[in-house]
Amino acid sequence: MECMQRKTEPILGFEVDLFNFDEALAYAHLHLKENKGLHIVTINPEMIALGNKNDDFGRVLNEADMSIPDGVGVKIALKIKGVQQENIPGIEFSKKLIGMCALEGYTIGLLGAKEEVVNAAADNLRKEFDNLNITYIRNGYFDAAQEEIICSEVINIAPRVLFVALGAPKQEMLISKLKKDMPNTIFIGVGGSFDVWSGAVKRAPEIYQKMGLEWLYRTIKEPSRFKRIFPALPLFLIQVIIETVHESWVKLR
Ligand code: UDP
Repeated sequence: MECMQRKTEPILGFEVDLFNFDEALAYAHLHLKENKGLHIVTINPEMIALGNKNDDFGRVLNEADMSIPDGVGVKIALKIKGVQQENIPGIEFSKKLIGMCALEGYTIGLLGAKEEVVNAAADNLRKEFDNLNITYIRNGYFDAAQEEIICSEVINIAPRVLFVALGAPKQEMLISKLKKDMPNTIFIGVGGSFDVWSGAVKRAPEIYQKMGLEWLYRTIKEPSRFKRIFPALPLFLIQVIIETVHESWVKLR
């Protein structure tokens, strides 16, 4: 592979990539061109907290090939550690990746969200990108038996890039299972992106996007998210501060 080295910084036990948006995209592009697989995680404080609670999920996060910082939480954590880092919204990164696939003739698959959502997202993407070749579309509501069928279907069709929208940790756990049999596929878990691409959900106004506060907007719009995000974020930042102080002490000794 051409020379493009990852540089990462650990946050509470998980390596976060320090690529900027264009570099992260170039890294994925290299893998596309060289027919190599890649598991991309769009990491946030909730996922890091869960990774520390749930060993299986933690292992899957650690086995990912690139963890791009999605949202202001990870950006602040890196700042606490003295690292200046650009926020890379997974939804925008994924859109660019889809544009690249359309332009260069790589196939894609969409797995996740409700049936009408994933179909509308596929239609809208086809309208937006000429020559986009979507070879697999499947909604994200299935039981264990259906999951086995879905896995065989996906492995058989082997889209070059598979976008999985089941929310964390489900999407990462499924990717981890699939990637063993699909060494040449690029996987990315995209959370609620299909809802936005389908037109069912609007993205936050630009000011929230620019500040990396899209999650805050979504929480205001959907207060049930409040319980999920709010205990996790302050606790996460306190833990990062403790980790950083500890690391400085260790260095001083
Ligand atoms: N979803 C799914 N199957 C499930 C649970 C969720 O396909 O069993 C979809 C859901 O319809 C939504 C996405 O997963 O499109 C996750 O959305 P959420 O906003 O919770 O994810 P986040 O972006 O917060 O990770």
